[in-house]
Amino acid sequence: MNKSLISLILPSFNEEKNIPMIYEAIHNQMEPLHYDYELIFIDDGSQDHTLESIQMLASAHDQVKYISFTRNFGKEAAMLAGLEKSKGEAVIILDADLQHPSSLLPAMVEGYEEGYDQVIARRTRTGESPLRKALSSTFYKVINQLVDVTLENGIGDFRLLSRAVVNDILKLSEGNRFSKGLFSWVGYEEKVINYENVSRQEGDSKWSFSKLLNYAIDGLVSFNTKPLRVCFYAGLLTLLLSLGYIGFIFIEIIRTGIAVPGYFSTISAILFLGGVQLLSLGVVGEYIGRIYNEVKRRPHYLVKDTNIHDTKDQLTKQ
Ligand code: UDP
Ligand code: MG
Repeated sequence: MNKSLISLILPSFNEEKNIPMIYEAIHNQMEPLHYDYELIFIDDGSQDHTLESIQMLASAHDQVKYISFTRNFGKEAAMLAGLEKSKGEAVIILDADLQHPSSLLPAMVEGYEEGYDQVIARRTRTGESPLRKALSSTFYKVINQLVDVTLENGIGDFRLLSRAVVNDILKLSEGNRFSKGLFSWVGYEEKVINYENVSRQEGDSKWSFSKLLNYAIDGLVSFNTKPLRVCFYAGLLTLLLSLGYIGFIFIEIIRTGIAVPGYFSTISAILFLGGVQLLSLGVVGEYIGRIYNEVKRRPHYLVKDTNIHDTKDQLTKQ
């Protein structure tokens, strides 16, 4: 009987030094298990020799597959490409920078065998400063108040998904993808495994402060329309307050006549209202931008080179 297949998806952006090491690490963990496995490396428009590194591995090992993008499309697009091309009955997503310890793979597969559809690896923040810990836990508290899906501190994209979950994720066709939210949105029974934070050995983290901020806004806006409502209430409150203020001034004028021309009140009202309007416009723009992106229906990524040739693709080409 054929062994069943597990797919491992590795988004890789400028990870030339890490590729051979991560292959070795995964191979050591997966070899003893009773599964066949495939490694799908996604070269997300790397500017170093990541692609060459992967191609060398692929020529030596049949389990190594790759998809190379024409430019950097981001980790979300890379994960999507991997999920689309994966054939395994279970799929594991992990970073190519060795920060997701491959020693967890057997435990994840075991969770899958116990019948869980999602086995999630949670990072515990041992090596971090108390300030950073406090900051990130506050961040998650605030975010969870705002979005409709639960996002948990230390939980990222490192997880195993059953074929059923992958198929459901692939049915979600939105252009702005926020996987952390999508994984939680699809539901299914989950098992959580903890691991200790590992620091990166080779290369740099690709997350700048502005990327993180954009990621947080994506998470917020992709998952509900609460910011729109906040604007609505802020606008309503401002309107009521200014009406009250106008009424008050009006009575004052009737009672005591016009005093000093109200420079201060005029300028503050203009500034305040201007601020509220700009904020609201910004939020509305955020949603309109999203609608714009959705209606364009552009592909999430473009492939320059791959060694995965689906029979389905070949049929459509002929
Ligand atoms: N990555 C990617 N495209 C990007 C940025 C990152 O494919 O535009 C990959 C990267 O190679 C790594 C994983 O996503 O395997 C996580 O990135 P990184 O280590 O920079 O994030 P961090 O660990 O700091 O959260
Ligand atoms: Mg990393």
